[in-house]
Amino acid sequence: MSCIFCKIAKGEITSQKVYEDEHVLAFHDIAPQAPIHILIIPKKHYATILELEEKDKDLIGHIFMVANKIARDMQFHEQGFRVVVNCNRNGGQTVFHLHFHLFAGRLMHWPPG
Ligand code: AMP
Repeated sequence: MSCIFCKIAKGEITSQKVYEDEHVLAFHDIAPQAPIHILIIPKKHYATILELEEKDKDLIGHIFMVANKIARDMQFHEQGFRVVVNCNRNGGQTVFHLHFHLFAGRLMHWPPG
């Protein structure tokens, strides 16, 4: 398995961990696009959002609860933040292990580029 985020999830590659439980890991992005840029990943490998099935609904709901918890714990919930998932080429996806970008610490632009 050559997936870099699987290796991070297994601890084979180090990351700046923010949150971890049985199913999910959150860590700081290596090339942050905002003052706070965290990636939240399922430990299980899904290449893209397209691989999700009905049975994965609880996992995805849990990921949003983790985003909620991180925002509150890091005290940027009131200023606000953005959660983004990129899918395939036109979505700008470069790492093919499902991940949720959590951006905070500045005013976000709209529409996103
Ligand atoms: P995406 O373009 O949506 O696939 O986002 C992939 C993200 O993963 C980018 O923001 C990268 O900076 C980030 N990234 C790639 N490798 C690492 C790594 N080893 N540790 C942390 N973030 C990474």
